[in-house]
Amino acid sequence: MSYLDELKLYVNNCNRCRLSQRRKNVVFGEGNLNAKLMLIGEGPGEEEDNTGRPFVGKAGKLLDKMLEAINIKREEVYIANIVKCRPPNNRVPFEDEAKTCIVYLRKQVAIVKPKIIVCLGATAARYVIDENIKITKDRGIWYKKGDFYIIATFHPAALLRDENKKKLAWEDLKKIKAMYETLS
Ligand code: URA
Repeated sequence: MSYLDELKLYVNNCNRCRLSQRRKNVVFGEGNLNAKLMLIGEGPGEEEDNTGRPFVGKAGKLLDKMLEAINIKREEVYIANIVKCRPPNNRVPFEDEAKTCIVYLRKQVAIVKPKIIVCLGATAARYVIDENIKITKDRGIWYKKGDFYIIATFHPAALLRDENKKKLAWEDLKKIKAMYETLS
């Protein structure tokens, strides 16, 4: 069994925060164990909770299209979230929930060792890049932390709510693709 499988088994029984009480499934994350690119969202929604898989609902369908647009297959990347259990009514995870759960995400990052981390939306950017980050101002900027190149862009759900953001998201996607090609 791989380290990631062992971690998944452990996380499936996690009761460290209140979100565990109402979940149907833990949404651990999935993808290529040797992914060069890791995408990080906020937390599972209803369909993710029902299926145990990240980004399979409406926002997930758009994410698939975004990846397709830059010629990257979903199977090539690894996809995870800041919290692994669905917050009630899709509210933003509370800080204690995020800080408790991110320990698991850090382990996933350490195991997969992606070269590029893409934060999808403000919550991921806040906990992965900097707590004061503003997604509208700071998206599309590369940050280097340790061995990782990290960038934030709009969450696909935000693009579904506001079509005007799509142009900026496309600029970010092109930057991500260029970095993806540069790093072997
Ligand atoms: N939104 C997220 O942030 N993550 C998912 O897995 C699905 C929707």
